[in-house]
Amino acid sequence: MPPVQPVLRIVAIVCAAAQLLWTGPVAAAEPQAFQPDTPEAHALAFLKTLPREWSGTSDHDCHTYEDKNLEQLQPAFIVAAAAFLKAFVATHGIVTITSAYRSVDEQVCVCYGEKGPCAGKPVTVVTKTGPQVIKPVGMSRHQMGIAMDVRPGAGTEAEFMCLQEFARANPQFGVYFPIGRIDWPHMELAGSRGPAIKLASIGPPNAVAAAKITPCQKMRVMLTHDVLD
Ligand SMILES: [Zn+2]
Repeated sequence: MPPVQPVLRIVAIVCAAAQLLWTGPVAAAEPQAFQPDTPEAHALAFLKTLPREWSGTSDHDCHTYEDKNLEQLQPAFIVAAAAFLKAFVATHGIVTITSAYRSVDEQVCVCYGEKGPCAGKPVTVVTKTGPQVIKPVGMSRHQMGIAMDVRPGAGTEAEFMCLQEFARANPQFGVYFPIGRIDWPHMELAGSRGPAIKLASIGPPNAVAAAKITPCQKMRVMLTHDVLD
């Protein structure tokens, strides 16, 4: 069993090459410094106030919830996610961010030990010449900067159901949970899945401030132990 770090490095190189072959060059994701007092700057500042920690569902804490990972999300998703989470927190209680933007290396790290499907997950193949080839599968929307993993309250199924219900009932925020119960925490920018994803064409949500908030029907407050008053 080779040490984990060299394997991660090899897989990362293969990932990077495959990414160029399959999807064309992806815009370099540098941490963004927004002009002060813009919607993007306010939205990013709000996201940074939310509690953040590792979900604990894979082998490693890959630290994909840090400031740098929020800063590299697409601006339209930063604005949409912040507006959505702000409304949810005000209505139902605390939300923790467990993952945001991921570099190729971070995506590979996240996939280690992940039991379910994971874009970029290494696959071992036996070839005629003997050595096993490890190659990545697909590309995560976390790598595109349009996905974030979030945990409502204590992370019970009822709380996740409420969070996803809240997104369906309030589409004005421009986020959704496209894989539902298969991956409860996984939130994306609305319109992120389809035959032709054109990030530049996905704008911030319209008329968010004017829209009425529809709360969850079954759950009024998250089951967190935190004091909410
Ligand atoms: Zn996710």
